Amino acid sequence: MRMIYLDHAAATPVSKQVLQAMEPYFGVKFFNPSAAYLPAKGVAAEYQAAKSVIARAIGAKASDLIITAGATEANNLAFTSVDKDVLYLGTEHDSVRRVAEAHGGRAIKVLPNGLIDLDDLKSKITDDTQMISVALVNNELGTIQPLVEVSAIIREVKIDRMKRGIKTQLLLHSDASQALNLLDINVARLGVDLLTINAAKIYGPKGVGALYVSHDARLHPLTLGGGQENGLRSGTENVPGLIGFAEAVKLAKEHLNGNRKKYASWRKILLSELKDCELINKKHCLDNFVVVSFPGLDAERLVFLLEEKGVYVATGAACAASKGEKSHVLKSIGLSNEQIAGSLRLTLGETNDEEQIHEAAKLINDTVVNEKKRINN
Ligand code: PLP
Repeated sequence: MRMIYLDHAAATPVSKQVLQAMEPYFGVKFFNPSAAYLPAKGVAAEYQAAKSVIARAIGAKASDLIITAGATEANNLAFTSVDKDVLYLGTEHDSVRRVAEAHGGRAIKVLPNGLIDLDDLKSKITDDTQMISVALVNNELGTIQPLVEVSAIIREVKIDRMKRGIKTQLLLHSDASQALNLLDINVARLGVDLLTINAAKIYGPKGVGALYVSHDARLHPLTLGGGQENGLRSGTENVPGLIGFAEAVKLAKEHLNGNRKKYASWRKILLSELKDCELINKKHCLDNFVVVSFPGLDAERLVFLLEEKGVYVATGAACAASKGEKSHVLKSIGLSNEQIAGSLRLTLGETNDEEQIHEAAKLINDTVVNEKKRINN
């Protein structure tokens, strides 16, 4: 049976080129970049060069990046820059939501279309607010947030604070884990002070991520030790991981436009061929996210029945589903319990081809028809 994998927001396979690029650094080039002899210095230089590739891809310098063991750590590190009042978007991934809550953070509302409620944001900023965290792309809906508008609001607040002699910092953090392979990201254009990126979602290795840190942000290390990564992330560098991340970034940049077109056309196919469902993420989203609800059906059963046919999909967020919780994201855009219970997230990616998309639509339709028959009998 052929597998049709439609869960690329949860994990992506490491691409062949990435694996090839990483391979020497497990063996012949195993040296610790901090060591004093020549081969180790060579590895240190290659590590820096790889860091530059990643930094340049987001309009930054290598010295602005702190390499971490994934996006969760990068998000946690970002929050070390605050000691009081933070705001976060209600639809954030748990790796932002939980740490924001631990800092006593307040949630910003989203509109029914999944976009940030800018009026709610404005009304919640106080003179004490130190950071605002808004993901560039939501991991359940694929919604692309208008960060440029958020940073414009922040700029106005900063000007007003300056006039009144208030020195409290106001930083913008964004988790761009889902965005790096399908959006052209530039930190200056977005106006972010802190940006989380993730190799695992762009056909790079798992457990590798980075935090972009502007000069305005003052972070504190989560781990103390040898002082690697500007003293902010001690521990021997994950050289193969970073080399793989850089290769994945290079490939993502090369294929960005082609992939966007491809996913947009596949999304259209799914929307025209899927029957008896309601499209949840209608607008303002990445082309590879299709979230549909089959009211009256149990999406968890659909996932299980589709797995039997070789089709792998998710209900809402993969992590929320595994904990048996209702998706906080789908709740916050105002879906009914019935709509949430029947929601499937299909995320398209490089393991797919057009034939698979037609086949998936057919298999999903067949499964839905059978489920309805079963329920009505
Ligand atoms: N942020 C977002 C938006 C994500 O989608 C994910 C992964 O699911 C993470 C953070 C966490 O990434 P990691 O598990 O690599 O730490």
